[in-house]
Amino acid sequence: MSVFSTPAILLRRTSYGDYDLIITFLTLEKGKLTVIAKNAKKSRKRFSGVLELFSLLHLVCRASRGRGMPVLQEATIEDPFSDIRGNIMKTAYASYWAELITFWLEEEKTQARIYHLLRYCLAALDEGVIDAGVLSVIFQIRFLTIAGLSPDFSQCSKCRVDTDLIAGSRLAFELAKGGILCQRCASKSASRLNISKGMVKQLLWIQNNDLKTVRRLKFNRPDLKDGLVLLEAFVMYHLGREPKSLKFLNSIR
Ligand SMILES: [Zn+2]
Repeated sequence: MSVFSTPAILLRRTSYGDYDLIITFLTLEKGKLTVIAKNAKKSRKRFSGVLELFSLLHLVCRASRGRGMPVLQEATIEDPFSDIRGNIMKTAYASYWAELITFWLEEEKTQARIYHLLRYCLAALDEGVIDAGVLSVIFQIRFLTIAGLSPDFSQCSKCRVDTDLIAGSRLAFELAKGGILCQRCASKSASRLNISKGMVKQLLWIQNNDLKTVRRLKFNRPDLKDGLVLLEAFVMYHLGREPKSLKFLNSIR
């Protein structure tokens, strides 16, 4: 039977019977991976204190014969990210990112860029050096781009005029088109979402630059709020519903 090992981030954990846990990870080697941890509930020694939400782990799993789930053999902590679980706002943001990944990614299909993105955002959230809302803007825009659903901020999504050539300090955004609109096209649209041109430029920057450079960006509060409202509306439009974790996040922020 084949055994494999991989770095992993714990996304979701549910009970299975009296003894076992079913756990969904985002792994570096195998993308989203759902495994069974036998006796994890019963025996404290087996995985003591290791299988916590959002923690960064190293897993050893045994692939099952046939179509069953892989079985978790060993899990060791690389970084517990425990400050996230100790703070309700941080937990709410991390839960939202985890829900997007669990919903969108296919089982056992490698997604190294999404793994590195989540790892970066969770580490920064745990550390507390970057505002959680800013991290959520960074996570969503880059996640949507990697997932192939990237909103287009570079041009009017109807007449294709370049963003730099659009007049006015605020731009409309149309969910169905997945992009911004110039003033002329916006006048024929029912869209009520809009965003400052400055924030549009910041979002373009985040889409096109290295993660390490985006932490230098500074946002003012109203722009950041616009960005969050727009990206969350865009996510809901594509999901066809409001994620449970987003409803919770909105109830506390
Ligand atoms: Zn236009």
